[in-house]
Amino acid sequence: MRFRHRRAFYVLYDGTYLVLFSAILATMLALGWQGLTPTWAEFNWWWLLALPLVTHLHILASVFIHNCSHGNFPKAINRLVGELCGIIVLTRYASWEIIHRRHHKYSDDLDKDPHPLTKETAGYWKFTWHTITNVERQLQMQFFDLYGDTEENRSFEKRRAFTSYATNIVLIACWYVFLGPVGFFLFFLPASVIGFLHINHFNWCTHNAHKPEEGYFPVNLDHGYYWVGNRIWFGIYYHGYHHKQANLFNPMRYEAFQKAKAERLAARKAAGPRA
Ligand SMILES: [Zn+2]
Ligand SMILES: [Zn+2]
Repeated sequence: MRFRHRRAFYVLYDGTYLVLFSAILATMLALGWQGLTPTWAEFNWWWLLALPLVTHLHILASVFIHNCSHGNFPKAINRLVGELCGIIVLTRYASWEIIHRRHHKYSDDLDKDPHPLTKETAGYWKFTWHTITNVERQLQMQFFDLYGDTEENRSFEKRRAFTSYATNIVLIACWYVFLGPVGFFLFFLPASVIGFLHINHFNWCTHNAHKPEEGYFPVNLDHGYYWVGNRIWFGIYYHGYHHKQANLFNPMRYEAFQKAKAERLAARKAAGPRA
């Protein structure tokens, strides 16, 4: 992981984005860019029928950035797809990767998992609120895990967090100017909010929120709504299998993959020891 190799990685990463987004924003403003979408005067309400599609694409960006964080795209494009999706879902790729790796390492540990499902965070809204307030804390904790929890590191991380917040604001301003008010307020903003609530629901239900009496751990869901979700979002609700084997783009293929692997091994055994 890149952030393990260099102490200043994350601040340089977000700092680079801050400069890049500021330059794009300044260029759009200097050129008098009118926005991708038409003005309110030209707006037709039936365009809102496209909102479910836009939301679906936004959710797909989350599905893809998740796959990127496990290196599931071809190596040549994995980082590129991750960075592009990170711009769409606003978090940027690096923080997504840091937070998600932590989730796999410390699943449902109240103190160390960025979005643990526990007795303390059991309800959906409680869980969502805990995630919102916990993510920045976890980014800092992973830094202290690597480099030590010292006075100096605390102020270093404070400056880094400030850079990240500034980058967020400039990125959102870029989207606003690029799309124009109609595209931003009627499509991008609602899709972002629904997408955020959706990913929290995903994190919540796939750690067995529906059956608290069994305890909280990654599970596979494939009934009702989840059946549809698995068919349009690459098997995301097969989350139990995903925690077992994260390098499958579609964890629904887990059983087929394991079966094929066992058959290969059996065939090799049957062929006998090689000379
Ligand atoms: Zn999980
Ligand atoms: Zn994962």
